[in-house]
Amino acid sequence: MTTPATHHRVLIVGGGSAGVSVAARLRNARVGDIGLIEPSGTHYYQPLWTLVGGGCAPVGKSARPQASVVPRGVAWLKDRAVEIDPGDRTVTTASGARVGYDRLVVCPGIQLDWERVAGMAEALRTPAVSSNYTYELAPKTWELIRDLRSGTAVFTMPAGPIKCAGAPQKIAYLAADHWRRRGVLGAIRVVLVLPTPGLFGVREFAEELERVVARYGIEVRTNSELVEVDGEGRQVVVADHAAGTRETIGYDLLHVVPPQSAPDWIKAGPLADPGNPAGYVEVDKHTMRHVRHPEVFALGDAGSTPNSKTGAAVRRQAPVVARNVIATLGNQPPPASYDGYASCPLTTARDKTLLAEFDYTMRPTPSFPFIDTTRERRDMWYLKRYGLSALYWNLMLKGRA
Ligand SMILES: Cc1cc2nc3c(=O)[nH]c(=O)nc-3n(C[C@H](O)[C@H](O)[C@H](O)COP(=O)(O)OP(=O)(O)OC[C@H]3O[C@@H](n4cnc5c(N)ncnc54)[C@H](O)[C@@H]3O)c2cc1C
Repeated sequence: MTTPATHHRVLIVGGGSAGVSVAARLRNARVGDIGLIEPSGTHYYQPLWTLVGGGCAPVGKSARPQASVVPRGVAWLKDRAVEIDPGDRTVTTASGARVGYDRLVVCPGIQLDWERVAGMAEALRTPAVSSNYTYELAPKTWELIRDLRSGTAVFTMPAGPIKCAGAPQKIAYLAADHWRRRGVLGAIRVVLVLPTPGLFGVREFAEELERVVARYGIEVRTNSELVEVDGEGRQVVVADHAAGTRETIGYDLLHVVPPQSAPDWIKAGPLADPGNPAGYVEVDKHTMRHVRHPEVFALGDAGSTPNSKTGAAVRRQAPVVARNVIATLGNQPPPASYDGYASCPLTTARDKTLLAEFDYTMRPTPSFPFIDTTRERRDMWYLKRYGLSALYWNLMLKGRA
């Protein structure tokens, strides 16, 4: 064991939604000596990419310099973590730096596994295929939707946990509503491929989404998955796992969402559950504290907690992690508990949103108890379009919401 070159009382790996929120909360509580390892010079508000793909927001509004969101007083190491040694209490970075810690907060997000579907990565370079899952491609989605007048549009969702499980279908609704308004929806066959048995895991929201799907005449393939894309030939192969069949569908527009998993270096490292191939950082689902290494915490998309992976979940997890880190620095047991809250603002039209909020019980847990949030609503559209991004940049990243 050698002494690391630098050491922080609290070290955070990943300066996305989770890392910056926790750093801000720790700074607000006057915790000193915080380090943040984050390789990207740009910070992204990813939930906006659905609206960008739908032609309802400019992509530039989703990005800001990372330097502008790192809280004052936090030491930002612009580098990539490649290894965590919880025995040694060190993190090694791509440039070879070794950084020691008293408490570690792990939140490097989720990995996009484009290559797990044959032909998907190559197809993204062809003219009729896009994905809202990257900053670069989200504007292309809108160009394709805007220019389509007839033909077949296919929207797909992969099996397994992904960030914002609603995003694969939100873009289908924004597209269908655009085509309806342009009077061309009747000439466009819209196919939505979902790995799940229904449209949503919470009955109340699934029922409303069934009405939305019927309104647009969308063909939904449940229990199904995209297994192959032929970008040049403009066709996809969809496997129906319930029926045990495969279907080839020709397309004029294809929106894909890649399979996702824990970052490979986390999967292969000592913080993952060795008995679970998913490989997320194995934390207690309430305290967010690692089950084997008590000085380690994790939150956000890289954590093993069985909530829906969303920024909304991060907003509720960050205060729990900050409080529990502070308590354990004072040798107290972690007092705060996360209840699994997540929310998914499902954009069902270009002026309507269904704000699905729920927790570990998978029951609706509305933040606005006096209105019916089990229905698509115009006020929730304005919340999604303007309110949530303001909340993100001005309050959440500053540790105030
Ligand atoms: C299209 C789309 C739509 C979405 N819509 C919604 C929505 O409507 N509502 C909602 O609540 N959520 C939504 N989300 C999900 C939301 O953006 C994520 O759940 C949230 O950003 C997770 O926060 P995080 O900090 O865990 O990960 P991220 O915000 O992704 O941040 C991870 C950070 O870690 C950094 N990093 C990666 N590897 C390393 C490494 N090795 N070392 C150090 N740093 C590293 C990355 O550069 C990044 O800055 C959406 C996401 C997408 C893509």
